[in-house]
Amino acid sequence: MKKGLLITIDGPAGSGKSTVSRLLAKKLSYLYLDTGALYRAVACQAIRNGVSATDEEGVAELCRRTEIRLRRVDDVLKVFVDAQDVTEKIRTEPVGLLASTLSAMPVVRSSLLTIQRESGKNGGIIAEGRDMGTVVFPDADLKFFLDADIEERARRRYMELVVRGEEMDYQSLKKDLLYRDRQDRERAVAPLRVPEGAVMVDSTQLSIDAVVKAMLAAIPEQR
Ligand code: C5P
Repeated sequence: MKKGLLITIDGPAGSGKSTVSRLLAKKLSYLYLDTGALYRAVACQAIRNGVSATDEEGVAELCRRTEIRLRRVDDVLKVFVDAQDVTEKIRTEPVGLLASTLSAMPVVRSSLLTIQRESGKNGGIIAEGRDMGTVVFPDADLKFFLDADIEERARRRYMELVVRGEEMDYQSLKKDLLYRDRQDRERAVAPLRVPEGAVMVDSTQLSIDAVVKAMLAAIPEQR
């Protein structure tokens, strides 16, 4: 039996998807599915095993023998790779960049499809990523596309890194984000694009609370 709606949120890096998804999920008592964390976990495992992004067979083998799990521990979504907690480790910019490169490979995408669809099959979920409404859950009950201009997205990512004590200068961060955007939008498989019928939300000028409010207003049950 469906426990609630299946809601998707797609958008580029730094648009606020993770924060907003977490808050929405909490508010609705839904599950929060952070699919970027799955791609980051693959990237983390590639780094740990010295597998380069150009080694397609190596990456395919890595996907076959790596077990990735998402588990909620005390309200926090934890990511495990072969039973090891990598939740914090996957949050760096180099891991994000490699995740973007690896996620263009069909073998990587298909290896993560089952875990995503399994998580969403009973509804009651906020699924966040790049291809949620287009590929993974094309029949979602409600789809959002969250965007923000590049300066604002880079500023937010910069602040996140500062809080985490990671050193990176703003200009190179912005350059990396632009590179990642292009890679995510231009890849052949499951590129980032606005799903048909999606509700568009531009968070450039909005606080997190305002974004959550705007989204709640679009959810039939919450009106
Ligand atoms: O959202 P996050 O920055 O954690 O995602 C890291 C990378 O994983 C993205 O740049 C994107 O290339 C990839 N990704 C994807 N499809 C998703 C979620 C993330 O390709 N559904």
